[in-house]
Amino acid sequence: MTDKNGIYLSVDGDDAVRVIIENNIKIQTDRLKVSDELIGELEYDMSNYEVVLEHISEKTEPLDDIGVYSEEQFSAVSNAALELADGVRENDLTSGVLLRATVNKLLDFEDDGTAMCLMTAMSNIVDALREPLDTRYILYKYLKSRSEFDTSEEWLRKNILPKGYFFRRDYPCEIINYDLFTNESRLSQVYFFDNYTDYFVFLFLKFAEQGRRVLECPCCGKLFVPKSNRAEIYCDRVLVDGKTCKQIAPKLARKLKQRNDPLLEKYEKAKNRNYKRVERYENADENSGVMRLTFNEYKAWLDKASEMKRLYLQGKIISNEFLNVIRALD
Ligand SMILES: [Zn+2]
Repeated sequence: MTDKNGIYLSVDGDDAVRVIIENNIKIQTDRLKVSDELIGELEYDMSNYEVVLEHISEKTEPLDDIGVYSEEQFSAVSNAALELADGVRENDLTSGVLLRATVNKLLDFEDDGTAMCLMTAMSNIVDALREPLDTRYILYKYLKSRSEFDTSEEWLRKNILPKGYFFRRDYPCEIINYDLFTNESRLSQVYFFDNYTDYFVFLFLKFAEQGRRVLECPCCGKLFVPKSNRAEIYCDRVLVDGKTCKQIAPKLARKLKQRNDPLLEKYEKAKNRNYKRVERYENADENSGVMRLTFNEYKAWLDKASEMKRLYLQGKIISNEFLNVIRALD
């Protein structure tokens, strides 16, 4: 089981056991919830990753007009790619390990010494690093759309399955001689991943099978999976002073109602407007002249803006400060 770098996973409903392998060593074995792992991944702020990636992409330009590439240039790009993966790993072990595994696989190619060969290798690396950014947007989009459908079945049939090309992938599995959940010796099936998109799309499908709902918390603006089928409006994230959205939000909502504040309406409008911009940008062809707003830029803004909304409602900042954040992307 330790001859490949990446993640082994065994899944049972929302429970999973994961084994992370790096440099032929099991570095971590842990249990996780499929839903937490999926939603949690979308919380990471990848806007800095996006900036570094653009920088790496620039390094792949030819050295002159006739398309000369050097070995030094190639090693600079591959080192920067591995560094980027390691940077991710500091906060987000799963993604860091998957990104590193992907880059390492791409470094293993036959170099015939031609410029074409180096160019292709570099652009493969940049494409592979860019893929998670698209994946995050797509997964967010479909998780968010779950609330538009009454049942999970309807959501899958109308929204997810028609996009088969994205969700239909190969998920390599292996038979090992013990059970990851119980450690008992018996034959069991495990999946193996060394690619970000495959791993998270697999979790998405495993989540979809469970038939659960996804809601957007009106307090912090983040997605969450309600614990039960009871009417839950707010999420359980700790928002401030050890208190969760669920504990704080009802009081804030009362204030919100009493105030009838045009600024709060502006905030809601900006949220919808900016998300529409993301949809337009992410779905547009390159060079189509659509204004740039990536999913990760939007997410970073939304986190900031919803935090400012809370501070504003609690009277900790003045209206101008809140307004500046609302308008930050205009
Ligand atoms: Zn919340």
